[in-house]
Amino acid sequence: SQRWARAMAILQELEEKCATPIGKLKQVADAMTVEMHAGLASEGGSKLKMLITYVDNLPTGNEEGLFYALDLGGTNFRVLRVQLGGKDGRVLNQEFTEVSIPTNLMVGTAEELFDYIAAEVAKFVANEGQDFQVPLGRQRELGFTFSFPVMQTSIASGNLIKWTKGFSIDDAVGHDVVAELTKAIERKGLDMRVTALVNDTVGTLAGGRYTQKDVVAAVILGTGTNAAYVEHAQAIPKWHGLMPKSGEMVINMEWGNFRSSHLPLTEYDLALDAASLNPGDQIFEKLISGMYLGEIVRRVLLKMADEACLFGDTIPPKLKHQFILRTPDMSAMHHDTSANLQVVGNTLKNVLEISDTSLEVRKVVVQLCNVVATRGARLAAAGILGILKKLGRDTLVDGENQKSVIAMDGGLYEHYAEYSKCVENTLSLLLGDEVSETICIEQTNDGSGIGAALLAASNSQYL
Ligand code: ADP
Ligand code: MG
Repeated sequence: SQRWARAMAILQELEEKCATPIGKLKQVADAMTVEMHAGLASEGGSKLKMLITYVDNLPTGNEEGLFYALDLGGTNFRVLRVQLGGKDGRVLNQEFTEVSIPTNLMVGTAEELFDYIAAEVAKFVANEGQDFQVPLGRQRELGFTFSFPVMQTSIASGNLIKWTKGFSIDDAVGHDVVAELTKAIERKGLDMRVTALVNDTVGTLAGGRYTQKDVVAAVILGTGTNAAYVEHAQAIPKWHGLMPKSGEMVINMEWGNFRSSHLPLTEYDLALDAASLNPGDQIFEKLISGMYLGEIVRRVLLKMADEACLFGDTIPPKLKHQFILRTPDMSAMHHDTSANLQVVGNTLKNVLEISDTSLEVRKVVVQLCNVVATRGARLAAAGILGILKKLGRDTLVDGENQKSVIAMDGGLYEHYAEYSKCVENTLSLLLGDEVSETICIEQTNDGSGIGAALLAASNSQYL
């Protein structure tokens, strides 16, 4: 029928516009490398902020004592305590609690948000057992993982540049997030000091390095996306501080804000961006991360419902709701292996209130998920290639096999198997067989929490 032909045409056009042939991915990787250089050269020199983290030493394994970590950066926040036992003991013991952030606090005031967080930290400390004790007379010390762009002024202070990922609390922008947290902690009467402020990518890098000395970079693919890596301090022209003894500095790329004319942007992406809380920002993130993939699929489905009556004569009302189709739903549909695509049918019914879908329609939905997830995963792989290029690790040096490990974290990568498989396969394709033998993506499970605690330890006031 004519309607079906229209639906197929929309799908085909999407496929064409989302295509990421290897040549294009290499252009994206090159553009990433170019922007990395520009962002390191001068403040504001690129869409990539390439933030200096003040982390010039990664964990050695000698860290010792009880430390806390707090991870704020997405839908949940976590509080963690870790008993570190030095070279031989390593992580002796750890406990955590995870709390979801009420959505009204994501768009309220800084004081409300930080009071809520401090209250949870206080509760966590109050419930602590005998096996976790800080030495008498010492303050508890905390590594604060804060996964938004921050212009750091030291290892334990920094001003929020902007919110991302659905957070929007105007009175916090431009302010020192450690000072805000510290004030809230004091209001709760808790004796605790923030000794390290780290991005989750930096925490993941630190946690990764603790267990694997070949870790050179960290990537997060979760609600949002970002990357950090170890740079030579001399290769950072915009750094005017003292040369660190290690000669190294961890850089928080804030790669979610990457943008390039080589990125395959469609009408759906432009509309999503225009309707977002941060139009014009975080374009790379809006193509590849978990907060947005399901929303892109919804927008294509809406067009198919509108122009090709994919779900009958009227547009299913739920389909008009932004963000109603979440990436975990998309992933469940994408992974549906049942003959009649039952999971797809159920998801359409439960989430979008579209019942009685035909197998043909369900197949279209799966294909759509595949197109959107594949584009995202392949672009993520191109981003990783960009970092490896910057590090000179995308080729063999004198036939040498210097091993490079990318520490990876985030719910998208962890739970969306088709996506993570595609990231790995694409990276191998981009690098070629020989080099890809030397590169490995290692999934870390909440490495950023341990990493923040390790950095809290190495920046302790008692050292
Ligand atoms: P955050 O990025 O908020 O710190 P996570 O790293 O745990 O938290 O990632 C959570 C994100 O991972 C969710 O917002 C969602 O986009 C994605 N995600 C979680 N579960 C799945 C799933 N089953 N399939 C696909 N994506 C998922
Ligand atoms: Mg996270």
